[in-house]
Amino acid sequence: QRSGSEEGCTPFLEIRHLHKSFGSFTALQSINLQIRRGELVCFLGPSGCGKTTLLRAIAGLEAQTAGEIWQDGKNISNLPASQRDYGIVFQSYALFPNLTVADNVAYGLVSQRQPKALVAQKVQSLLDTVGLSVSGGKYPAQLSGGQQQRVALARALAMSPGLLLLDEPLSALDATVRVHLRNEIRALQQRLYVTTIMVTHDQEEAMAMADRVVVMNHGVVEQVGTPRDIYQRPATPFVANFIGKANKLQALATGNGGITLAGHKLYCPQAPRLLPGQGLDVYLRPEDCSVHDCTALPPIGSAPAPNGSPVLTGVVEQLEFLGPVCIVHVDVQRLAERHVQLQLSPAQCVQLDIQPGRWLQFSIHAQQLKIFAQ
Ligand code: ATP
Repeated sequence: QRSGSEEGCTPFLEIRHLHKSFGSFTALQSINLQIRRGELVCFLGPSGCGKTTLLRAIAGLEAQTAGEIWQDGKNISNLPASQRDYGIVFQSYALFPNLTVADNVAYGLVSQRQPKALVAQKVQSLLDTVGLSVSGGKYPAQLSGGQQQRVALARALAMSPGLLLLDEPLSALDATVRVHLRNEIRALQQRLYVTTIMVTHDQEEAMAMADRVVVMNHGVVEQVGTPRDIYQRPATPFVANFIGKANKLQALATGNGGITLAGHKLYCPQAPRLLPGQGLDVYLRPEDCSVHDCTALPPIGSAPAPNGSPVLTGVVEQLEFLGPVCIVHVDVQRLAERHVQLQLSPAQCVQLDIQPGRWLQFSIHAQQLKIFAQ
């Protein structure tokens, strides 16, 4: 597991060796994590990996079995939820249906017995912030899902919490509203500089919004990193496979910073130093290739690509047009797995006349391969 901190920064939130079991089932295992003030961090992972359990432990809604949680220099591990300093938004909005929008937002402030005029002023300012200035008198049922989630956000921010917790806040919304609202939440979070943790299983959402992403699997943290880090430098095979698309290929170590793939030697300084002949799992992103030619008849031999990489040959099986990109499915006889998916621009596909049944010549960008010992 890579470190979740940057040296020299005191974390705003720190999780130390956190464990959580439900009976004999371990939901979280030795979680260590540091989050800086003002950061937006996403917990990302497949269903059941423990994201929500971790968020609930931070909120005090689930007691940890072992380990500590520190917030703003204080050990909050055993504080009841009501005494912790956070606002929370759930997937299901969880608004009070019998209260108006303004009263929903005012709820926490009123229970603190703050002066009426101050509450009214604060509520209006929060409603302005989330773009609902004129909806204060409406009831939740009169609002769309996106608007209800804005109210939930305003309510969570009303007490100016040190920490904002978002549990799949966008999953119940349709795609267009989701993208719109995620940009709004990110802009608001940056403007308020409120430390935020968001649980999501939507990779694109995490990549688009987060300063750093915590990738989880089976109750453990696989990697903590910026969206670019986890995509370009996955720390584990799980992350390489889970984040983005990748072709998984078998290769062998050559013992000197190289690998043998499909009978060709490739120089990969990023490859783990292993004994010659050791098996490797290699992850090739569809975009990490250059297509050189596409012909009706099989090519006779092939010169190396201009960058010196060996050229592989395969037969085009299928072409998927996805708008901004095309995915070309290729059967490469010399690869043990045979089938790879390559990503090209639609213009390139037209220019090279890529069609099923034609022969494709391509090279792979060896230094971009993600390589792990088997
Ligand atoms: P999802 O994206 O599906 O919500 P998640 O990553 O948030 O998944 P959690 O809800 O944290 O996952 O659950 C982690 C594991 O712990 C799951 O296997 C779940 O069944 C189990 N679990 C969660 N809460 C309880 C509970 N109260 N009792 C028993 N098992 C639980």
